[in-house]
Amino acid sequence: MAVSVFDLFSVGIGPSSSHTVGPMRAAGLFVDELVGRDMVDHVAEVRVDLFGSLAATGAGHGTMPAILLGLEGYRPETIETDEMERRLATIRADGKILLAGRVVIALTESDMQLQPGRRLEQHPNAMTLAAFSAGGAVVYRDTYFSVGGGFVVAETLPDRSEGADACADGFFRSAAELLALTERDGLSVSQAMMRQECVNRSEAEVRERLLHIRDVMVACQANGMSRDGFLPGNLQVRRRARDWFVRLDAEDPQRDPAFAEDWVNLVALAVNEENASGGRIVTAPTNGAAGIIPAVLHYALRYTPAGIADPDDTTIRFLLTAGAIGSLYKERASISGAEVGCQGEVGSAASMAAGGLAEILGGTPRQVENAAEIAMEHSLGLTCDPIGGLVQIPCIERNAISAGKAINAARMALRGDGTHRVSLDQVIETMRATGMDMSAKYKETSTGGLAVNVSVNVVEC
Ligand code: SF4
Repeated sequence: MAVSVFDLFSVGIGPSSSHTVGPMRAAGLFVDELVGRDMVDHVAEVRVDLFGSLAATGAGHGTMPAILLGLEGYRPETIETDEMERRLATIRADGKILLAGRVVIALTESDMQLQPGRRLEQHPNAMTLAAFSAGGAVVYRDTYFSVGGGFVVAETLPDRSEGADACADGFFRSAAELLALTERDGLSVSQAMMRQECVNRSEAEVRERLLHIRDVMVACQANGMSRDGFLPGNLQVRRRARDWFVRLDAEDPQRDPAFAEDWVNLVALAVNEENASGGRIVTAPTNGAAGIIPAVLHYALRYTPAGIADPDDTTIRFLLTAGAIGSLYKERASISGAEVGCQGEVGSAASMAAGGLAEILGGTPRQVENAAEIAMEHSLGLTCDPIGGLVQIPCIERNAISAGKAINAARMALRGDGTHRVSLDQVIETMRATGMDMSAKYKETSTGGLAVNVSVNVVEC
């Protein structure tokens, strides 16, 4: 299956696509199998084993509560955040969940078995769910891998991602194939991606769903700019977006382009503060990197001629182009911090955003490819070392910095004619290989870098 733009941009909850959204989806798949096989009423016990990075940073990423809610039948796309809090409070008080919403099972976060030192061969984000009868017999068991961006692969089930069939003509799995396709058929990158999406749904549906994604992104940033106080966890990180918004709004009531960089920073900050507090979020392509694409889209809509003239069409072209670039990272490398470090999350998002903006600025497909390449080339080696296992430091500011990098990459590419020495395919392969060589300390385990050099008791920001 080719990767769909709706695989990369999906609505969920914070703070992590791989450690919150993915585990909740995995628990949902497990429950679906129990229900589909008519087994759920025979279950008396559920055992949860977490391995590798899920075990190492699950506590800071909300992994265990996400699994409990997933086992009850909640989905990250639809659960309301206040409902989530209410339900978790009840589970913690009772020490019980309602499996599939109907079978009472004794299970809490502390019952889950954590094995941070055990890395399963297939992926560092792994979890095994097992259901037992009253007599102790295994009713159903499966192992799930949360492979980044909320994608989940089950050991025994077929891949259910919703992308189009990639066998037909008109599909691309590399930047070289994408460029050849655009040149052969006279397409922009967004048109090539739209054609791929339209194998499974109408163009009208694609446009409608992309505008919904945009609306959720905008609501998320508005929420972020309206809330103050401290983010969850013991880092004591104060939310900054609301205060910044109030001051910036007063300084720049006319939205002068001279303040563009400040607004871009603010959007990224607001989205990532919402993510860190477990709010409603769009993976782009992950939660930790979710602020970059909304921030650069904000720039495209507010400060480019195309965005000012037709915001809806600009949104659709931006997200399709970013999705086309993101699909290459998903296909050819990884968007999982636990697999390749932060270069796979924030680096991929910056590359996607740079490509999207380059098209909106009037770039040719080769300039789009160049912009995406520049943004990743200068993200190579970026490690994942979140302090306290929380998606806060360095994640929140890193999104703002990388949104700026994406805008700069797009503007640099537009100054050239699209010819350049390092291809996007080469830089994607370099990112993958660098990630494979990277020490596990720097791959979402919070055992290296800032995570060990900064005390979690330090008051930041
Ligand atoms: S450091 Fe990067 S990859 Fe790691 S949690 Fe933060 S945003 Fe995600």
